[in-house]
Amino acid sequence: MDIILKILLIILIADFISGFVHWLEDAYAKPEMRLVGAIARENLLHHDKPRDFLKKNWWQSSYDLIAIGLVILAVAWFAFGVMSGWLILLVFLSVNANQIHKWAHQNRQEKPWLVTKLQDWNIIQGARQHGRHHRGEKNTYYCVITNVLNPVLEEMRFWVGLERLILRVTGVERRFDGV
Ligand SMILES: [Zn+2]
Ligand SMILES: [Zn+2]
Repeated sequence: MDIILKILLIILIADFISGFVHWLEDAYAKPEMRLVGAIARENLLHHDKPRDFLKKNWWQSSYDLIAIGLVILAVAWFAFGVMSGWLILLVFLSVNANQIHKWAHQNRQEKPWLVTKLQDWNIIQGARQHGRHHRGEKNTYYCVITNVLNPVLEEMRFWVGLERLILRVTGVERRFDGV
């Protein structure tokens, strides 16, 4: 039981990380920025043409996350002497966030049977919930791994609250994507 609870917790932490990074990119990266401009352009393209990124294979949509994940594991091990199956599971889930996101955009015929079932059983995020992120100003439902965290965070108005706090403290406004 303890192990199942820990696994669920790790999945939710990975889901939150996926939402936090996605929110940072959507809210604060702008196409004209030097380092993160490419990320902003890619996200805007995805909001505009959601199926375009399905052309990418797993490696093409995950290599940057894998690189970051390996750096995190290396720092944990070499700088802090920390390495555990839990950390590896967290990194493994997080670096596959884009792949899980892609599955939410694919038709049933385009993805493996087991993936469809995992979505049907609400274990990973499906099209219906992720579709909410693609509505309106694309400023809600940022988490892409499960169906669990998004409704809770939206109920709390978590992202809006964070944006207001950032505006108050730094004066920086979030990016407006239009409708
Ligand atoms: Zn987005
Ligand atoms: Zn999407």
